[in-house]
Amino acid sequence: MTHQPALSALAATDPRIAELVEDEAQRQHDKIRLIASENYVSQAVLEATGTVLTNKYSEGYAGRRYYEGQQFVDPIETLAIERAKALFGVDHANVQPYSGSPANLAAYLAFAQPGDTVLGMALPDGGHLTHGWSVSATGKWFNPVRYGVRKETGRVDFDQVRDLARQHRPKLIFCGGTAIPRTIDFPKFAEIAREVDAVLVADIAHIAGLVAGGAHPSPVGHAQVITTTTHKTLRGPRGAMILSDADHAKAVDKAVFPGLQGGPHNHTTAAIAVALGEAQQPSFAEYAHAIVANAKALADALVERGYDLVSGGTDNHLLLIDLTNKAVPGKPAAQALDRAGIELNYNTVPFDPRKPFDPSGIRLGASAITTRGLRPEHQPQVAEWIDRTVTAAAAQDEAALGTIAAEIREFLTPFPIPGYSA
Ligand SMILES: *Cc1c(COP(=O)(O)O)cnc(C)c1O
Repeated sequence: MTHQPALSALAATDPRIAELVEDEAQRQHDKIRLIASENYVSQAVLEATGTVLTNKYSEGYAGRRYYEGQQFVDPIETLAIERAKALFGVDHANVQPYSGSPANLAAYLAFAQPGDTVLGMALPDGGHLTHGWSVSATGKWFNPVRYGVRKETGRVDFDQVRDLARQHRPKLIFCGGTAIPRTIDFPKFAEIAREVDAVLVADIAHIAGLVAGGAHPSPVGHAQVITTTTHKTLRGPRGAMILSDADHAKAVDKAVFPGLQGGPHNHTTAAIAVALGEAQQPSFAEYAHAIVANAKALADALVERGYDLVSGGTDNHLLLIDLTNKAVPGKPAAQALDRAGIELNYNTVPFDPRKPFDPSGIRLGASAITTRGLRPEHQPQVAEWIDRTVTAAAAQDEAALGTIAAEIREFLTPFPIPGYSA
């Protein structure tokens, strides 16, 4: 088994890096990858990413560039934009943000001034750092106010959102996040944003693929500005996009360039175009619904084994598990699971009494295993391995972890991944 496309020149020039990349390909093959923000991109996306487009500078936008030689880059970026607009049904798309965090920073730059008040979801409740958390530039340079979830339900407390919005009159309201297992109620956020005259930014980084495939409601028509990564459920290269209505288009473009960035990463833009083309196929809608079916099946199987899921289950690709009722907290559980061949991350849970670097929970996502072809009937087995590992971790039974890892490698043999083959 080797990396595809083949790394022949790399192996000759830099065998150490080639070896590490090969090892990573095998690692991605041999594990059940449940990190909710990760996926396997297609061979076509991989190929587009590794092209001569990386050699080209293209500051500006198609037809309005600062450097010559844009005969082929312009149509590539235009295709990416047109596909994004068609897929999500929006007036405007900017495909240049380097990643999700810079895309969010561009939203601040476009629609707020330093010191302005912004309302976002608190990090421990499922929000992202860039929604105004204190260690982020967005929390230092703006005046962040934070909403959270209700303790009893694990779902957004809209009374709190409305009260905070009325009291603080934020310029921006962010909805969406990194650890939200439930459907985001965009119309409700929009109603509150309208009432206080704030710009609503829907950050759909995690769920963009579900939205594109019709497996989660769309924020279009509710949020004036939509930011997203392209590499999570959307299954493209690492990158981001900002979608908006016509009224907010100019400010978005100005904020990305020249406000925040220099030249766009054209190789990434091409790969985004490819991924968006894939997402326009009917098979992608099936994929999006299959992700949710797998996540629900995994949630059911874990609840059956006594696991405490924040909000009691999932509507999307993601599960957040509070391990307080188990003998081992999030971090040692995640580390043991990694040794047992199941890759996920430790995570804070709402109202977590423990520290963020050693929290109570773990977060799981079904996007990568769905790409790989796992189905709902496989999820009880995945849950069994998780449960056995957590039990083994509590008993410090290292041998059991090795046994599970071997079972998983064997189980995964009939499920090939793009990017790695004989
Ligand atoms: C992943 C994520 C981001 C940041 O994306 P990066 O590409 O890691 O910078 C922003 N917002 C949300 C909600 C995310 O989940």
